[in-house]
Amino acid sequence: MAIREIVYTPDPVLRRKAHKVTVFDKETKTLIEDMIETLREAPGVGLAAPQVGISSRLIVIEYGEDEDENEDAPKKLYIVANPEFIKKSDEMVEGVEGCLSVPNLVGTVDRHEEVLIKGLNRNGQPIKIKAKGWLARIFQHEMDHLDGILYTDRANRIWQPSEGEAEAADV
Ligand code: ZN
Repeated sequence: MAIREIVYTPDPVLRRKAHKVTVFDKETKTLIEDMIETLREAPGVGLAAPQVGISSRLIVIEYGEDEDENEDAPKKLYIVANPEFIKKSDEMVEGVEGCLSVPNLVGTVDRHEEVLIKGLNRNGQPIKIKAKGWLARIFQHEMDHLDGILYTDRANRIWQPSEGEAEAADV
């Protein structure tokens, strides 16, 4: 495993529509392992392949469902290739987001409270994931990366956070 370099705006790879993952070979598995290591090192709660300069529809998320209430909640690792929304709740919620590729800024973004996602796991097998609250937000943020969209495009307000506030959610 290796830590990959995170790319920052205005790198054009962050603005490209990423390609579907079609093979799950050694190269794909190495990329997944590297993305997990890079995410943990950052540290962040989510990472999309374009954020390490690879224009592939691949995301990794590591987040404890109850993390906002309990810091020691067990974290769960999600690896999804070619993720797509099957359902999005009508209910929208506003929350503060940051992005590993957009340093030193945070912003408030409206996201769907609950989403149902389908995609492929690291072996290319179909999976479905139901996410709500923060986890749903992280999925929406990461899936935007695959279409070249940054949270700053959607934000109601963007500002430079004071110390500590930056830890809100780097994804
Ligand atoms: Zn991001």
